[in-house]
Amino acid sequence: MNETRNCQNCKKDFVIEPEDFGFYERIKVPPPTWCPECRLQRRMLVRNDHFLYKSVSSKSGEPIFSSFPPESGLRVFSHKEWLGDDWDQNESGKEYEPQKPFLAQFWDLLKTAPLPAKSVTQAINSEYSNNSSYIKNCYLSFGLMHSEGMLYCENASKCKDCLDCSLSLGCEFSSGTFLNQRCSVAHYSSHCEDCHNIYLCRDCIGVSNCIGCVGLKNKSYQIFNEQYSKEEYLLKLKEFNLGSRQSFKNILGKARDYWLKYPVKYARNYKNEDCSGEYISNSKNVKSSYYIDGGENLKFCHSVYVASGRDSYDQYRFGSNSELVYESCSCGDHVSNVKFCYGCFNNSHEMEYSFLCSSSSHLFGCVGLHGKKYCILNKQYTEEEYEVLVPKIIKQMSDIPYVDRAGRTYRYGEFFPPEIGPLAYNESIAQEYFPKSKEGAEEYGSFWRDPGDKNYVPTVRPENLPDRIEDVQDSILDEILECSHLAKCSHQCTRVFKIIPDELEFYRKFQLSLPDSCPNCRYFERISQRAPIKMWQRKCQCGGGKSSNEIYQNMSPHQHGAEPCANEFETSYALDRPEIVYCEQCYNAEVA
Ligand SMILES: [Zn+2]
Ligand SMILES: [Zn+2]
Ligand SMILES: [Zn+2]
Ligand SMILES: [Zn+2]
Ligand SMILES: [Zn+2]
Repeated sequence: MNETRNCQNCKKDFVIEPEDFGFYERIKVPPPTWCPECRLQRRMLVRNDHFLYKSVSSKSGEPIFSSFPPESGLRVFSHKEWLGDDWDQNESGKEYEPQKPFLAQFWDLLKTAPLPAKSVTQAINSEYSNNSSYIKNCYLSFGLMHSEGMLYCENASKCKDCLDCSLSLGCEFSSGTFLNQRCSVAHYSSHCEDCHNIYLCRDCIGVSNCIGCVGLKNKSYQIFNEQYSKEEYLLKLKEFNLGSRQSFKNILGKARDYWLKYPVKYARNYKNEDCSGEYISNSKNVKSSYYIDGGENLKFCHSVYVASGRDSYDQYRFGSNSELVYESCSCGDHVSNVKFCYGCFNNSHEMEYSFLCSSSSHLFGCVGLHGKKYCILNKQYTEEEYEVLVPKIIKQMSDIPYVDRAGRTYRYGEFFPPEIGPLAYNESIAQEYFPKSKEGAEEYGSFWRDPGDKNYVPTVRPENLPDRIEDVQDSILDEILECSHLAKCSHQCTRVFKIIPDELEFYRKFQLSLPDSCPNCRYFERISQRAPIKMWQRKCQCGGGKSSNEIYQNMSPHQHGAEPCANEFETSYALDRPEIVYCEQCYNAEVA
């Protein structure tokens, strides 16, 4: 039987289904007291997605780049120092106190136990990257796996030599893209698969040499979905003069308007069996989830991909060969039985309430350990002692729960409260998905930190930046460029930025103009294409011969004939969105 509960945080009702109770029993946790959306937001608070701070190592005093702001006051070691065996990991260990709420004891430990500055595995010549594994020559890129030569990219795997790309799988030589798979030389295109030499295209499959196209399959030499001969196409491409920032921006604007005249599929889900959510591919029985590839039996999960996860609930980020993960963030790479953890990875299992631990097992309430077993609050126990003490702590967590500033109660079975953790609300990824003001963040029970002013004086104003890539001199590498947004946007604008040599080479090679905005502004503009983590019940907008708003004329007959399509679906396109939203059958009738 379904049971309705009231969320401790937002006070709205949410439903727990019989299959959910089954899962909670299987992993021995009580049912949640926060609704799925509030749980996701809470998990996001511990993750710094793409900021690096100039800091110093608490071990050697050497300058380091850290994912923790220096103002957090944590003990942070460089990743290499942290992995070294010349310090005692259990030195920070604390004796368990049966009279004090356990999460308060954990918080004390988190303030004193050494943490790795970054979460990386095998990162070669990629000092300015984080949250990545198996990467080489990457710069200001985050959330990468098995990738190299990536500049200002995030969430990519098996990619090479891309710039300003988000959510890419198997792409190369691309720039400004969003959610492309296996594309080569694709610029400012999104949701494309197996394409090459394309500019400003959306929802294309197997397409080459196209500009501004949408919803095409296996076509070449088309511009705004119109066929050209190869010679005509090349002439047109020259005329478009994409190496000029002004011309490029004009055509980008035209392409975005043109895309809206063509239907989108209600959800971008592919090759799935019995799944619901958005951006789900190659998965089976994945429910109410978002951006999953190769998942099985997942629910309320987000961003779990690359040899994905199975049998997990409430897993945010990473995944990669994971199973039985619950209420955790950034855990993956051969992990199992992980509950209420952040950043536990690399063959870790039987982990609870732990933070940034790797290659470990049987840890409860630990921080920054690697290669350890049977520890509680970083103190070493024998297997026997551990097995006796953990059930006592679980009971104690329910008998003496932690109560946060906002009055919410945390018994065993809840993730960390918003007030426990190294990051301010606006430093965490929560700010991107659930934006809050300073006051809102404090009311929520988190806190806020204003970024320090770096006082860099720009040497090139946006209006003085050369328009054409041909006119850019090597000396640009020595300049401090001013961002055209002038920090007046909501993009966490850095106000100034630099061009690095590999980047200049990329723009020259592909004849693209220099950007006039900083990487953060480019990032936020790019991900504005990202679907919200919310679903709406809608009707297919196919009216028979035309879309119901009469903008799009169908090109092929549909199953439902001249009558409007009766299909309904759950979609991340809200009712007031400008896109024309079609059901799967109607969409496929048009792109096939
Ligand atoms: Zn809620
Ligand atoms: Zn900016
Ligand atoms: Zn901006
Ligand atoms: Zn339809
Ligand atoms: Zn139709």
